Amino acid sequence: MKIIVQKYGGTSVGSIEKIQRVADRIITNKAKGYKMVVIVSAMGDFTDELVTLAKQIDPYPSGREYDALLATGESISSSLLAMALTKKNHEAISLTGWQAGIYTEASHNKAKILDVKPARILSELQNDKIVIINGFQGINSDDDITTIGRGGSDTSAVAIAAALKADFCEIYTDVDGVYTTNPNLIKEARKHDIIDYDEMLELASLGAQVLHPRAVEGAKAFGVTLVVRNSYNFNEGTIVKEVSKMEIKNPVTGIAYDENTSKIAITGLPDKPGIAGKLFSELAEAKINVDMIVQSNQTNAKNDIAFTIPQDEFAKGLEITKAFAKTVGAKEVDSQEHVSKVSIVGVGMVSSPGVAAKMFSILGENNINIDLITTSEIKVSCIIDQKETNKAVQLLHSGFNLETY
Ligand code: ADP
Ligand code: ASP
Ligand code: MG
Repeated sequence: MKIIVQKYGGTSVGSIEKIQRVADRIITNKAKGYKMVVIVSAMGDFTDELVTLAKQIDPYPSGREYDALLATGESISSSLLAMALTKKNHEAISLTGWQAGIYTEASHNKAKILDVKPARILSELQNDKIVIINGFQGINSDDDITTIGRGGSDTSAVAIAAALKADFCEIYTDVDGVYTTNPNLIKEARKHDIIDYDEMLELASLGAQVLHPRAVEGAKAFGVTLVVRNSYNFNEGTIVKEVSKMEIKNPVTGIAYDENTSKIAITGLPDKPGIAGKLFSELAEAKINVDMIVQSNQTNAKNDIAFTIPQDEFAKGLEITKAFAKTVGAKEVDSQEHVSKVSIVGVGMVSSPGVAAKMFSILGENNINIDLITTSEIKVSCIIDQKETNKAVQLLHSGFNLETY
């Protein structure tokens, strides 16, 4: 069986007219002799609207009920798409995550997919049906609905493509593919024809919304070739796959940014073993995702620790940190709710000295203050004032010659 898995994001199924267009595209592919499995996101910003409704009742609702609510968005788009296909004389069936055999961890809101049991999908394909599956959701061992993290439909698509051993997995969105940076922010951004899994994983993890990080991780682990394409045209898109390091020309191939970042710093912490472990365990227990962590040099048996967390966890994170600072006798807690993380990414960085220095110089020469820095072999990230984000991305994009990439 030749199978294509396609995923259509919220922007691609945002209206009845768009759903009709998606249906036509699916029919065109089916006519080429493929069995079609289609994963959909909720229409437009529907999931955000559901979040707003929930938060009006409780800012921290129960994970189970929150997931039950958020998962409804995908049911609407999948049934409408199945109806549109049937009306165009192509038999289609919509399946929830549960019906499609998507099993996840027990935890809610960001559950990992543990297994896909594709028997139902395969039997519907055998009956020559187009199978439409709700993205972003699964079921846990308690038979409760789970969701797998915002933007997670990409990951649903990759997991299903891997389980079906599909020929490839196409991710349809509102831009032509993966660019050197967000093309909606920087008009000079260039599209990659091909991008390496590792580079894509860094870009996605550092804020490039175009693919969900776990989708890239899964695609690499299971050898699924991903193709990111525009649902509004028939352009080639970007292929995400293993790229030989010999073929890489530029040390930096992408700029990512994440404005959903807050910074908290504790100064004058007693420099004793176990202090950092205790603070970060408390934050972890509260399910706060800590990202960058920087500890300063010890002076007079004291040191400072600064870290970043997502903005929607800021209030909770600050409260925990302040209480912790008091119990251990730290000097003070300093915080900034709205900062940005700007990052340069490239697998070629490993063998090119001076890349980080060039980034710091570009920012420094333009009066953009760097607050925290972290590096890995293939990325450098800096925390800066949120107001400087666009300027920093623009400067780094042109400074690393990505306009002519
Ligand atoms: P979908 O609803 O299809 O899942 P998303 O909004 O999640 O779409 O992702 C697509 C968006 O990702 C684009 O509209 C673009 O603004 C943003 N984006 C950020 N960085 C990049 C990048 N490097 N390449 C392409 N798009 C990017
Ligand atoms: N609808 C979900 C969200 O908005 C999942 C997705 O779009 O991938 O996060
Ligand atoms: Mg998305």
